[in-house]
Amino acid sequence: MTDTRSREGSVTVVGRLRAAHGTGITRPLSWRLAQLEAMGRLLDENGAELEEALRADMGRPGIESFIAEISFVRAELSHTRRHLARWLRPRRVPVPAVALPGTARTVLEPLGVVLVMAPWNYPLLLCLSPMLGALAAGNCVVLKPSELAPNTSAALARLIPRYLDERAVAVVEGGSSVAAELLEQRFDSIFYTGSGRVGRLVLEAAARHLTPVTLELGGKSPAYVDDTVDLRAVARRLAWSKYINAGQTCVAPDYVLATPAVADRLVERLAEAVRDLYGPDPASSADYGRIINDQHFDRLVGLLGEESPAAVGGESDRGSRYIAPTVLADVARDSAVMREEIFGPILPVVRVTGLEDAIEFVAARDKPLALYVYTEDTAARRQWLRRTSSGGIVFDASIVHLAVPGLPFGGVGASGTGSYHGERSVTVFSHRKAVLVKPLRPETLALLMPPFTPRRTALIRRLLRR
Ligand code: NAD
Repeated sequence: MTDTRSREGSVTVVGRLRAAHGTGITRPLSWRLAQLEAMGRLLDENGAELEEALRADMGRPGIESFIAEISFVRAELSHTRRHLARWLRPRRVPVPAVALPGTARTVLEPLGVVLVMAPWNYPLLLCLSPMLGALAAGNCVVLKPSELAPNTSAALARLIPRYLDERAVAVVEGGSSVAAELLEQRFDSIFYTGSGRVGRLVLEAAARHLTPVTLELGGKSPAYVDDTVDLRAVARRLAWSKYINAGQTCVAPDYVLATPAVADRLVERLAEAVRDLYGPDPASSADYGRIINDQHFDRLVGLLGEESPAAVGGESDRGSRYIAPTVLADVARDSAVMREEIFGPILPVVRVTGLEDAIEFVAARDKPLALYVYTEDTAARRQWLRRTSSGGIVFDASIVHLAVPGLPFGGVGASGTGSYHGERSVTVFSHRKAVLVKPLRPETLALLMPPFTPRRTALIRRLLRR
């Protein structure tokens, strides 16, 4: 169902799903697997329409949408379908002497009605990926896609009710006022992806109902490059991961920290990499995307205006919201481009004196969502691993950790709280309930009950000391 109407709309939707959840329809494994299978069919049968909606919203090539969104959700679906029964199995827990005889286990139970709020930058992936976890965990879901990707939002609102169980899933389209209305409702879990500014509003709203929240936020994800690596290969990986989706990727390398021995050569290699990927004129490349809207375009051009001429790119065109893949060769540490998440195709290179300076630079700032360390020096790798905190750390690559379902994906501190992907996508929407079965006979608990005679006291002290 699609709902863009009043608060009554939100109240009705949540109430309806809560009632449906209460009937137990979402509990059976067969129902959950059927929803995952149906989501797969939704993608298979409407791939062209979805790619077109993504192209209209993001101005990016269809194959990029296929790689970064559609195939990604497909992979998560098949991984989850393959392993779900095992993940849901109760887990035996050892019982200490004091509770013997008895058996203990944990069981996963669905939380109830989940709100998924998604941003515009990967508007299909960031709706369906959390949603498939919530359904696999046996929840009902209210999905709020981003209003800044209206074509994808409309396609999801039209297709989801055709494929998924309408009793348990609702799509509510709209902007911040609709989101705010939704947030007044009591959910059993809120999964929010987007900026820290709205993340704070989500937390405040959730606090009123004591609702658990997962925040998938962003921030500045650094890349570090030293002189032990093949700079041509590194530059290609950096350029690809930075300029995919025109830099509007939460885990894109935001800036590069380069040691003196490599900084100039790295900039040259980045220029070559941009030419290799997008040709001499990226504006005419069918493989290069555009900026989401005028407001973000103006923000990015404003950041560029603060810098001396770009070493690579720097051109822009407001009419088509084109900003060239850009490299800034020597950026001051306190410049505007280093004070906020860039979220666009501008790659500043900041010069550091060496490993120590680079680690201190990162450790002194907000904990990033991702940290990319390009070095073959194992001692340096160890230092990065031990002395910095980030949602994830990747050695010699960028962004591809998202494609490993066994790796939890999420931030820490300012880059978010909670994680998902693979099994985590199910547990994040579940309560792990403690279950103990303690037979009435023999009554071993009598030992712990008064009257505490000297003999019993001595026995208890001996038993519980073990
Ligand atoms: P956005 O503007 O689309 O907002 C995200 C959601 O919040 C939308 O559904 C929107 O309707 C809602 N919203 C906006 N204003 C609101 C308000 N006042 N009250 C309630 N809801 C409101 O997206 P965005 O925030 O611009 O997203 C970009 C940010 O998201 C970047 O910081 C990026 O790094 C981060 N991000 C993180 C991940 C991740 O997986 N960690 C993924 C993508 C993007």
